[in-house]
Amino acid sequence: MKIDNHTGWDTRALKTIATRAVRGEFRPDDVRRATLHVVYSRTAQVSGWAYIGSSGATVRVPRPQRARWDKTPGLRKFPGALFAGVVVHEFLHALRALDHKDMGGGRDTAMRGCSDAYDWAEKVEVKVRQPSARPKVTPIQKAELALLHARVKAKEWKSKEAAAGTRRKNWERRCRRAEARVRDLTGTLPLHELLVPENAVADQEAE
Ligand SMILES: [Zn+2]
Repeated sequence: MKIDNHTGWDTRALKTIATRAVRGEFRPDDVRRATLHVVYSRTAQVSGWAYIGSSGATVRVPRPQRARWDKTPGLRKFPGALFAGVVVHEFLHALRALDHKDMGGGRDTAMRGCSDAYDWAEKVEVKVRQPSARPKVTPIQKAELALLHARVKAKEWKSKEAAAGTRRKNWERRCRRAEARVRDLTGTLPLHELLVPENAVADQEAE
């Protein structure tokens, strides 16, 4: 069974309960290709819906802040037994194409989650996932970060500038050497102004 969990309740624990709840009720092949969508209910109730004869069911569970308190102080209790019952009920609609009449009549009897059969599910611990740990950035931190970034970039380009300057000077030196060689061989300096940077010419003339 695939769990498509849109809530903060722990997916593995939900899967543990759902898998155990449907065991024996459905063909293993049907269970394998089934998808259980878990979403938040707008109330503190557990409810669900499914298309008759489909492979997916949706079960709505309360938000942690709406769930009742656990025995452990500060913790909310996931309604495991109700969840298990609704999971089975919705998959009876989906995987076995049963309607409420097929399930024995009235809506109450169809809601198997109301029975004691799923008490075991109360013992499965369903934790609430911690919200993503990305800290909120304050305007001051944002401004400081922008400053740091600008400084790093300025330093980076300053060192590139220095390296470029060094290489420019090397090439200018090569210009002067090449110039001298041409002049030695020909007695003239063709295209001199075009090829040689002005300061190099000045240096050459000063030598
Ligand atoms: Zn139903």
